[in-house]
Amino acid sequence: SVVLTGITHRYGPLIAVDGVSLSVAPREVVCIVGPSGCGKSTLLRLISGLETVQAGTITVDGVPLATADRSLPPEKRPVGMMFQDFALFPHLTVAGNIAFGQTDRPRAERKRRVAELLETMALTRYADAYPHTLSGGQQQRVALARAMARDPKVLLLDEPFSALDEQLRRSVREEVVRIIRASGIATIVVTHDPEEAMEMGNRVVVMEAGRIVQADTPVNLYQRPANSFVARLFGEVN
Ligand code: ATP
Ligand code: MG
Repeated sequence: SVVLTGITHRYGPLIAVDGVSLSVAPREVVCIVGPSGCGKSTLLRLISGLETVQAGTITVDGVPLATADRSLPPEKRPVGMMFQDFALFPHLTVAGNIAFGQTDRPRAERKRRVAELLETMALTRYADAYPHTLSGGQQQRVALARAMARDPKVLLLDEPFSALDEQLRRSVREEVVRIIRASGIATIVVTHDPEEAMEMGNRVVVMEAGRIVQADTPVNLYQRPANSFVARLFGEVN
């Protein structure tokens, strides 16, 4: 499991993440919700190594990834990350994009793993296509496959569905949840949408101004909100 203990990050004078502690076990999907600017993306970037931890520690299965004075580079971390805009490489094919996510391993094994992921994501017949020729939902699955190609212990998804229109959103979300659950990888999903968080997460974490306000099951958040902010956030979700 991934364990965050008191992690903090400042951009100059601004504290973006302020002493956050959280642990996510294999087979768990934790959703993070909160207003714009509350530190959600920064938190994911700290776990993936795109930002440095200034206080606190991050470990995965007991192995430290980051402390205030030691930090593994992103490519050495057992972490897969998927961004809002998918960030696919336009000049690489679907198979090329997926293969890019992999770490060092023998060529035959890499090919086998890419074929397996294409199959899982129902993308086999698009292996040689370029991203711009795919639908939003298909591009989304390529991005997920790329994040999973390195067989990460932790999967991080930052606003994974926000580039999709309302109609596609629900079906793609269900598809992605099914794939993630089948993989059993500990997963953190950032979303603006409380309803999405309630539907996807085993647990939901509410952040405000860099801190965790409440972390609980969807039912408990709804029935026993810690404060009026949480109550308002989930009050309209049924
Ligand atoms: P959103 O929901 O809008 O994506 P967020 O919760 O992901 O917001 P962050 O992107 O983590 O928020 O930003 C947290 C705070 O840190 C914000 O006040 C933001 O302006 C600031 N911030 C983020 N990135 C930088 C940066 N590279 N340099 C300076 N300040 C930053
Ligand atoms: Mg963000």
